[in-house]
Amino acid sequence: MLMNIESMSKNLPLRFAQGQDDGIFGQPGGMTFSTVSLNMKYCLPTVIWPNELCVCYCFVMVEQEGATLIDSGVLLERFKVEHFLRKINLPLQKIYLTHSHPDHAGNAAYVSKKWKVPVYASADELPYLFGTKKLAPRNYEGANLRTRFIQLGDAFLPTPRIPWAKAYEEDRDFSERYRWIPIPGHTPGNGALLHLKTKSLFLGDSLLNCNTLSWRQPVGLSFPHHFFSQNQALAIRSTTVLKELDFDHAFFGHGPPILKAAQKQIADFLGSRK
Ligand SMILES: [Zn+2]
Repeated sequence: MLMNIESMSKNLPLRFAQGQDDGIFGQPGGMTFSTVSLNMKYCLPTVIWPNELCVCYCFVMVEQEGATLIDSGVLLERFKVEHFLRKINLPLQKIYLTHSHPDHAGNAAYVSKKWKVPVYASADELPYLFGTKKLAPRNYEGANLRTRFIQLGDAFLPTPRIPWAKAYEEDRDFSERYRWIPIPGHTPGNGALLHLKTKSLFLGDSLLNCNTLSWRQPVGLSFPHHFFSQNQALAIRSTTVLKELDFDHAFFGHGPPILKAAQKQIADFLGSRK
């Protein structure tokens, strides 16, 4: 397994592409993916970012130990996620979820069954994936047209059911590789995953790097929008933990990654919003 994944990942292009059709993996235009190399010397670990996803980004963290899918995209983009996973052709070992919203956990059950890999989430988020607890209905009062469009999704994209999901504590090598950063409020068990070796922070919806309420989705840091948070005051307050956290790279569910000095940019953003 170790040799396999190392030699395979060496064939991944060592470049970072953002939203451009650069022919990575030789796929037809419109189906390109981005690779973010975080360790030039050994090529590993590497983050692969399928930037063709339109609704919500997921990532694959490639390490010597194997590949981990972080978040899983929305059901509507299942064909893209599946195509991406087949194209990278790396032995997928597990799925980690930042929270249970359908744009992040929408394909986790499908990929888990098809690739026969376990799904992990925070212990506080598991009841929503089990279906034993329900998130409160959203209040769309004052929403703009695009947000009303997103609201339509609530009717046919419920919280995904993954009764076999487990808590991060149950993953034997989780604590050697990652730290779970609880950032409750967006959902009760919401948080970010910090990959320790590369100082990469996978934020899910804890912070966004674009305005998803605008059709053009301009890039820029923002808190998750209150329409989509269970407790917006808590969602904002709990991001304070990011001011002191040691990380270099930030990967968002919405908006492009920040690959340099991410901690400073995020701390500056949080400081300016006080
Ligand atoms: Zn969310």
